[in-house]
Formats: sequence, structure tokens, C-alpha cells
Amino acid sequence: MKIYSYYAELYSYKEYIRSLIKNEGINVNLEDIFTSFDKSILSREHIHKYTYTQMDEIRFSIMRLFIYYFSKSVQEHSFKQEDYIHFFKFIKKQKTKSPTTIITTNWDTLIEEYCERNKIKYDYGFKIPYTNMHDNACESDIILLKIHGSANWLRCLHCGAFLVFKKGEAAKSLFEDGKNETCTVCGQGESFNAPSLQPEIITPTMLKSFANCLYLNIWSAASKALREATEVIFIGYSFPIADFDFRYMLQKSISTKARIDVVLHENDNPEQTESKNLQSLFPEKRYRDAFPKNTLRFFYNGFSDYFSCYSS
Ligand SMILES: [Zn+2]
Repeated sequence: MKIYSYYAELYSYKEYIRSLIKNEGINVNLEDIFTSFDKSILSREHIHKYTYTQMDEIRFSIMRLFIYYFSKSVQEHSFKQEDYIHFFKFIKKQKTKSPTTIITTNWDTLIEEYCERNKIKYDYGFKIPYTNMHDNACESDIILLKIHGSANWLRCLHCGAFLVFKKGEAAKSLFEDGKNETCTVCGQGESFNAPSLQPEIITPTMLKSFANCLYLNIWSAASKALREATEVIFIGYSFPIADFDFRYMLQKSISTKARIDVVLHENDNPEQTESKNLQSLFPEKRYRDAFPKNTLRFFYNGFSDYFSCYSS
């Protein structure tokens, strides 16, 4: 397949994705899929000797499709899921002294939407005011650090402005029919038949080559929050070996005095097997190895149960 026909085909998948989103109900880890995609693209680059520009174009298109997907799936979420409701009750209780910091590798904007519906103020923790969003960390209940970027963040390729979109507007600005994407800062739209807004999301495989100021800031804010934390709660994170950079930051930053709660699913419970060898493959072993001096507690009944029982 010629690379450019592949690129064109990606755009023609637009309608297909649109229909998939409509019939949504699929529960997959899209970040994993994206990472595999990313890796396969990178390896094909060596095998078939595609140029960097061509590879970049494909990655760019796939990213745009994902932004579209995330934006749309948030719009169609019911916002009544018990898990999230218990979690936000917990956050509301915490509001007393200092804001709770949430560090997430997810790209979707569900947390933001729940915050808006629950009147919880959140802040992305950007250090310099170079966005179209007025952040004020002192007034916020939550500092939301999205260390792999977010589906509603786009960068203008003309003026370099970093744009934060509200509710599904990122998708609209990218793919809705009859609309040209335009930068709200410089007002410039498509040029040279190429899109002008670039999604600001990254995958773990891309992280190494990323010396972007935005990410350096978010990662250092995450590291600082972890250093100061007396209580760290991991939710649904299996501490995978492959997340080298994130694991390194967690190990380096979390104080040995901090209490660590790990909230996982019953399938992650090592007690389901009696074999010591098999047990060592479960997340619990990786956590214990990484934080040998900390007080660790493990909860295997999901995060709804944890936040309704253990957080009061
Ligand atoms: Zn611009």
C-alpha cells in the first residue's frame, strides 16, 4: 500500500468512526491500542524506509481521529456511573485545606466533565500563562495533571498558541463538516491543504523525544506534588514495567513516609493463585518492589467500593 493512499484512507475512516462512536459501548484501553499503533509505525519506518515526514503525517492523522473519538465519547457518557460519583464525593470531602492533585495518563476529559457537573473547580497546573485558559491554582479544588496530554488540548501550527477546548469542541474544530478549523488566538485556518491544529497528546513511546515545555512543566508539577504528598492513592494503575519514565518519577518522588493505597480490580488480586511464581507477576509485587519502605495497602474491589468504604 502506498503511504499516501493510506493517509487518504485514514480520512475516509471518519464516517466509520463516527458510526462506531454512535453505537458505543465498547470498553477497551485506547491508550494501549494507540501505543501499539505508534510502535508499529516506528518499526515500519525502519523496515520500509518511509520518510520522517510521511510517518509524521500518518501519526498526525491517527491522533486527530483519536481526539475526535475521545471528544465524542465524553459527549455520550451518561455521567451517572457509581464509580465516579463516589470518587467525587471523596474529592468534595477533601476540599478543606489544600487542593487534591490528580495525576493521570488518560487523555479523555471525563474528570473535567464530572468536575463541571459537581461544581468542583479544577486546574491543569500550567505554570506559565501561555494558554487561552485562565488557571488559578489557589482557587481550585483539584489540580489535574495530565502527563500524557489531553483530548481537548490543541496547538496552533501557525502561531504556536496552546488551546484548551471545552466540551467536545476539539472534535468539532477538527472534523465537523463544513467547518474550517481556526485558531482562536491568531485566527488562521487551514493552509497548504494541511490542518492547522495539532493534538497535544503523547504516548509513552513518544515521551523520550519530547522536550516540549508544556510537558516538562506538567511532569515537574507532578513530581513536586508527589514529593509533598503524605497520602498517595493509585487507582486502576497496574504499575506496568513498560512505563519507564512514569515509574521512575513515582519512585524518585514519593516519600518513604507517604502512605500508599493501591486500588485495583479483583482480577489483579494475587491471592487467586497459590503459585508463588504466578503471584510475582501481579501488580502487587511490582508496587512492593518499588516502595519497599512505605506502608502499602491493596484494595481489590474496584474504586467505587474503595471511595465509599475507605475514604470517610
Ligand atoms: Zn494560531
